[in-house]
Amino acid sequence: MGRAHVLVVGGGLIGLSSAAALLRDGHRVTVIERDHLGAGAATGNAGELTPQMVAPLASARTAGDIVRGVFTRSSYLSIAPVQLPRLLRFGIGFLRASSATRFARGEAALAQFSAGIMPALERLRGEGVEVSGGGEGFLLTGSDESELRAAHAGFARRAALGWGTAPGPLLRGEQLRAREATLAAEVRGAFELPGEFSLDPVRFVAGLIRHLVESGAEILEGVTAERVAPGATGTDGVTVVGRDASGEPRRFTGDRAVVAAGAWSSPLLRASGIRAAPVVSGKGYSFTVPVARMPRTVVHSVDRHCVLTPMRGRLRVAGMMEFDAVPERAHPDRFELLARSAARVFDGGEWGDRSDEWVGARPMTPDGLPLLGPVAEIPGVIVATGHNMHGLSLGPATGEVVADLVAGRTPGVNGAPLDLTRFAVARPV
Ligand SMILES: Cc1cc2nc3c(=O)[nH]c(=O)nc-3n(C[C@H](O)[C@H](O)[C@H](O)COP(=O)(O)OP(=O)(O)OC[C@H]3O[C@@H](n4cnc5c(N)ncnc54)[C@H](O)[C@@H]3O)c2cc1C
Repeated sequence: MGRAHVLVVGGGLIGLSSAAALLRDGHRVTVIERDHLGAGAATGNAGELTPQMVAPLASARTAGDIVRGVFTRSSYLSIAPVQLPRLLRFGIGFLRASSATRFARGEAALAQFSAGIMPALERLRGEGVEVSGGGEGFLLTGSDESELRAAHAGFARRAALGWGTAPGPLLRGEQLRAREATLAAEVRGAFELPGEFSLDPVRFVAGLIRHLVESGAEILEGVTAERVAPGATGTDGVTVVGRDASGEPRRFTGDRAVVAAGAWSSPLLRASGIRAAPVVSGKGYSFTVPVARMPRTVVHSVDRHCVLTPMRGRLRVAGMMEFDAVPERAHPDRFELLARSAARVFDGGEWGDRSDEWVGARPMTPDGLPLLGPVAEIPGVIVATGHNMHGLSLGPATGEVVADLVAGRTPGVNGAPLDLTRFAVARPV
């Protein structure tokens, strides 16, 4: 289509990235955000862009964690028992997706994005969006020998399939301490993943917003979309019906609408009469601490389930996966638990001097794959949500897929056609 007016619902990583790609194509863009841009899970995350690590959460290894998560609050993954009825459909889908066959299929579907993650980020950088504050190469650490070996073998296998760069050799003893002197004593080994990249998500989101404003996007903050609907009879447009912060009804019309409301997407889709796989909130936590000495790169623990990212002179610690009803509510004991996990990986953090405490809701799907594509119920509506733990990695490339769909082009990632069937919005899980 020529120049369209596209309404983007949700100003998080996916909505903002979609808006940028749509503006690049010359469309008129209105972003509708219930709070302020970046208010969801966009800024407090670990800042990782991971061509190698994009894989579903559900696997034979995590299926047991899901069950344990109901009975113990001390696990990185927790589920409030009172939430079990609400999470039933998600939980059954998650356990079904944990089989080796289903994991392999999901992994292959997501790997379609691997080679496109950095080029899509580069295109944003080329347009002036800041991608600074991090750098290349992560160190993956393990205290548990079998977890460490399994992770290393898994990445070597993926690299052999062409999905990301091969991991470096397993480092131990003096070699390990020479690579990273700040590791805690219980870390038994580590290896490098040279192709992964990190950035400061606060600066990235601020840069994206600046870029959108300078490129002429219309930004509506404090407006909650309640449903999307077809446009007026006789047109092929769409309508977004919502309410502003004072409770006044608002109504917007455009040629296309993109639903990118992250962990809040399911109620919006339901209210719009759109059938969709469930998206639930998997809350993660982060904070920053001063450190005696900064690690040389991102340190990502494969078995203590935390990521340590050097950021603006402090160390950001991110992790946890908590399923409960209120995406915005933080449980103070989770910060403590996360700090204890981090102390088992990293030596020299001033754990009592935490600041920037943050909770964010990852939009989780049972099979770990985003919901990405058009919907049968309302022509002109595109859904782009459910990016699980990978919304920063996949955001820029997802935005380009959205722009392809709006333009009527074959959707692609960095020039290669993308098979959208595994991401179908109404797929059974
Ligand atoms: C602790 C933690 C660490 C993470 N680390 C990484 C990482 O290192 N790398 C990575 O790739 N990913 C990471 N993630 C995941 C990543 O942050 C998410 O996948 C990503 O934010 C999802 O983007 P989104 O746009 O779908 O949702 P969000 O970024 O949450 O944005 C959704 C937006 O929609 C708005 N909204 C909701 N409902 C409505 C409505 N009805 N009307 C209007 N607006 C609405 C919200 O206010 C919000 O601003 C991490 C997440 C957490 C919690």
